[in-house]
Amino acid sequence: MLYLHIPFCKQACHYCDFHFSTSLRQKGALVDALIREMELRNDYLSERVLSSVYFGGGTPSLLDEMELAAIFKAIEQHFQLEPQAEITLEANPDDLSIEKLKSLRDSPVNRLSIGIQSFAEVDLRSMNRAHQAHEARACIENALKMGFDDFSIDLIYGSPSTSDAQWLENLRIAFDYPLPHLSAYCLTVEPRTALAHQVKTGQALPVDENQATRQFNTLMVEAEKAGFEHYEISNFAQPGRYARHNTNYWRGKPYLGLGPSAHSFDGHSRQWNLANNARYIQLLENTQAEKLPASGLYEIEKLSPAQRYNEQVMTSLRTQWGLDWKLIEPQFQAHFLQSAQEFLASKHLVQEGQTYRLSREGRFLADHIAAELFYLG
Ligand code: SF4
Repeated sequence: MLYLHIPFCKQACHYCDFHFSTSLRQKGALVDALIREMELRNDYLSERVLSSVYFGGGTPSLLDEMELAAIFKAIEQHFQLEPQAEITLEANPDDLSIEKLKSLRDSPVNRLSIGIQSFAEVDLRSMNRAHQAHEARACIENALKMGFDDFSIDLIYGSPSTSDAQWLENLRIAFDYPLPHLSAYCLTVEPRTALAHQVKTGQALPVDENQATRQFNTLMVEAEKAGFEHYEISNFAQPGRYARHNTNYWRGKPYLGLGPSAHSFDGHSRQWNLANNARYIQLLENTQAEKLPASGLYEIEKLSPAQRYNEQVMTSLRTQWGLDWKLIEPQFQAHFLQSAQEFLASKHLVQEGQTYRLSREGRFLADHIAAELFYLG
């Protein structure tokens, strides 16, 4: 699995805490640096055959045809793509003109993840999104017209600007399209974002937990009616149309992340790149392969057995496949069984054989339940 972080956006959404710059001046230099990082770190994964490539960000749909072609040329040089490899590109509606979609269709990209967030102008303005409501619909229609039948859209619920009626309308509009996949996230006020500042200074309302819970419930009900499988807390797919890249990530498969702020995981340790475009470019211009570990490009954390167990609990319980008790390291199995009793009794967890899953009620409390099952000793 390969992840590429494209750290540029046209404007800053108020809620966003990802790494990006709104100045596109260094875009070309950053693509060169990213390709250089690929040259230097392509041996990170023991396996050179890729089942998925994911362009995230930031806004990867800001890459032009030449930049995208240069990245794919480098991927072909350093890796082998499985014949059915899933190649996803995150895109914003205002970038998805017919011409852009044509050029993406003629590239190896075979899946789009479109940042719709809402079909209502009032939400888009309060979030400071770069697109308008009419573009949210037009881009889906254009993507379908251009033959993209594999795509996902992102929606946000729980925003004070999103009434319950509007949320239902957002879902109705989305499900009117032949949508294979939906990711829906609750608005979160992350520290050091414009939204956090607005809430602190009274310019924006905080997220109302009751509203967020109601809207999550509506989401589950309406998605089920529309034939979607709720296969991860924030992700819904028509049968079999799961996002392969993300599913493998939740299953703990290794991945290489390239670009500023990108994370990598080799099964034993995590590493994350520095989140500074200018420094990233400079380091990759001047560093030789043997000097890379000491260059400051990334930090590494070796995961302890307890950290690995905690991650396993966190990610697998969020999925419909749940946690297979046999796959837990023997030293944590008793701890899990003991901590799980309370949630089995309250019916937030259900057990089938050796597998533990969140019940429908448990999904409302996923993070809390996982934290209670963690090993902190
Ligand atoms: S477009 Fe995406 S990455 Fe960029 S600021 Fe908005 S939410 Fe963040």
